[in-house]
Amino acid sequence: MQTYAYGYPRLGASREFKRLIEGYWQGKVSEAELRAGIDALERQRIALYQQFVDAHPVGEMTLYDNMLDTAIMLGVYPIDPRDLNAYFTLARGADALPMTKWFNTNYHYLVSHIDAQTAFRLHWNKPLEAFQHYGGGYPYLIGPYTFLRLSRGFEPEQLPALLERLTPVYAEILQQLKQAGAAYVHLDEPAFALDATEAEIDAIRAAYQTLGQYAPILLFSYYDSVDFLPRLYDLPVAGFGLDFVHGARNYQILQQHGFPSDKILIAGVVDGRNVWKTDLRAAAERARALAQQTGATVWLSNAAPLMHLPVSVEPESALDPALRERIAFATERLQELRLLKTLLTEGETDATRAWNAYQHASDHWYAPGVQSRVASLTPADFERAAPYAERDRIQRERLQLPLFPTTTIGSFPQTPEVRQMRQAYRTGKITADEYDAYIQQQIRELIAFQEQQGLDVLVHGEFERTDMVEFFAEKMDGIAFTQQGWLLSYGTRVYRPPIIYGDVARTAPMTVKETAYAQSLTRKPVKGMLTGPVTIIAWSYVREDIPVEQVAYQIALALQDEVRDLEAAGIPIVQIDEPAYREKAPLKRADWDAYFRWAAQAFKLASRAKPETQIHTHMCYSDFNTVLRYIDWMDADVITIEAARAKGEVIGAFEHYNYPRQIGPGVFDVHTPAVPSVESIEAVMARAIRVFPREQFWVNPDCGLKTRKWEEVIPALQHMVEAARRLRAHTG
Ligand code: GLN
Ligand code: ZN
Repeated sequence: MQTYAYGYPRLGASREFKRLIEGYWQGKVSEAELRAGIDALERQRIALYQQFVDAHPVGEMTLYDNMLDTAIMLGVYPIDPRDLNAYFTLARGADALPMTKWFNTNYHYLVSHIDAQTAFRLHWNKPLEAFQHYGGGYPYLIGPYTFLRLSRGFEPEQLPALLERLTPVYAEILQQLKQAGAAYVHLDEPAFALDATEAEIDAIRAAYQTLGQYAPILLFSYYDSVDFLPRLYDLPVAGFGLDFVHGARNYQILQQHGFPSDKILIAGVVDGRNVWKTDLRAAAERARALAQQTGATVWLSNAAPLMHLPVSVEPESALDPALRERIAFATERLQELRLLKTLLTEGETDATRAWNAYQHASDHWYAPGVQSRVASLTPADFERAAPYAERDRIQRERLQLPLFPTTTIGSFPQTPEVRQMRQAYRTGKITADEYDAYIQQQIRELIAFQEQQGLDVLVHGEFERTDMVEFFAEKMDGIAFTQQGWLLSYGTRVYRPPIIYGDVARTAPMTVKETAYAQSLTRKPVKGMLTGPVTIIAWSYVREDIPVEQVAYQIALALQDEVRDLEAAGIPIVQIDEPAYREKAPLKRADWDAYFRWAAQAFKLASRAKPETQIHTHMCYSDFNTVLRYIDWMDADVITIEAARAKGEVIGAFEHYNYPRQIGPGVFDVHTPAVPSVESIEAVMARAIRVFPREQFWVNPDCGLKTRKWEEVIPALQHMVEAARRLRAHTG
């Protein structure tokens, strides 16, 4: 039994990738140093693969994003790939390609624009270059279907025709790879895990019928099962890599339809998305059963690219030892593959026995009080005490807001000074009292500013927060933080996901001090600001010993306690942000109802406030058509969403859906430094007012203002408030 690994993080053990590239942008690293550094990183990655597994891809490195590289390769953006200026212009800055989430992960890729005019041609054989440079390995490529499926600029029905046009280009690439001596080519087609139409499946079949003739292809799909897998069995493909961790349905497919005995089954049995160690014995058992059942050659592999895991557990000396010995990052996944092979070929050794034999008890992770609180929840605990119509009446009475109330999404510019003060506090250079006093001063200034601007619902500004998940996770039991557990979120941007390992509970109020202080400074309503349970889960690694909804309910109860405390402190409005509500959704539509059911339940549990407390939620994306009914399930009194960038699309979604509660479709885009004019804001509002009853319409930006500068925020909000005034005057 062979082992194979792929997708090992390119970041480097000390984030060398980030330092090199950002250094180059800042002029501190020369082009030659950059190239040499990246080359060294790639050699380290290959050396690691060679240390632990039998085979691996080559050519996975990118200076920014592999989807961008694919587009350049195929002539969509025919820049000279050696021209770093041209390359980084496509990747970042004002003229960059748009960016979006890669499947249901927290990685973002650059989105290519493709239309009928796009002329595909082989512009840059990137895998060939890598193969010739590094030797060995199976040249790595993103497959044509995935590339098209994740690009924009055309209607879904056009995809089959585009795939047909793209096939000869891939054929040429494969032919050159084979001529150069590649034993196999590694083709990633994760989009096979999405729902595909009949026409798409036919087009995929046609494409691979051709491509398989040019080189021996190993076709990898991951993140979920490939439901049309049996339709690919007769294709001239050498092997299929499947995810048996997050695509457990693949087991059933093989059970029902078998697997062609002349092909290689690359069984992804060690998790590429979560951090819990693989149970080696169980995994070996499953691999053995797969081999017996299919009669095929089975290779053992990771279930999804290892880039969703940090480099290694090694430097995490500060972690609870009970946790540290139970988790595996990317390097430990390579170790697991080697151990699995040992187990299957030689039987148990000291090393295989030691892997899952834990020295430290984890009993202290669990809180019976939290568990019984979740166990005793009844359906009523998930519903507000009064229906929306009644809440609406009570809240209007209490809040006395004008028509088209204006507000913001929560955060205000995080200036270098704010970040410096937080750093000074974290490193002990200033005391907690000094830091608190500084935050209070920021809040004072912000409340005065918002009053002066004439905003109707004020916020405290989130100056004390780095990251909306980290801030809450740090204040909850049962959630750990790593020191070096960095992942790339896009380009060179990194973040460290928390690890939810035990029962979650709030140890003390988390936001009451700042929010109540803000409210004490004004007669206008101040909106409390929490991060919702689904988002905390989506941006963390989550325990798997209990169902994910149980984890969500535990977090929701902690948030509910916070809501109650905010109410007691006189806060009339609480916003519970759920920007990950949509992105956490499973890849296949058939699984949506079940997911959104618990996701909405968790939100409702967290937001179970008194009828007079107005609950807001916020989400920032624009494809609302498909999820509106699930947003409706949340029963929030007000939702604020992204709309300005999507130019009416979002508002269009509401034309076909009679959304019963209040909505703030963002009237300007916070992602660009451009200051919106009063007229452009009025234009968005004019569209909205045709769709929403005017009592339902709120006026706010698309998202938080954290990444903007004050010079931009001041005029933008002035214009927003002015536009709302004009609209009131027109309709009043
Ligand atoms: N309240 C958060 C903020 O304003 C929401 C951020 C988000 O939507 N991602 O920054
Ligand atoms: Zn947002």
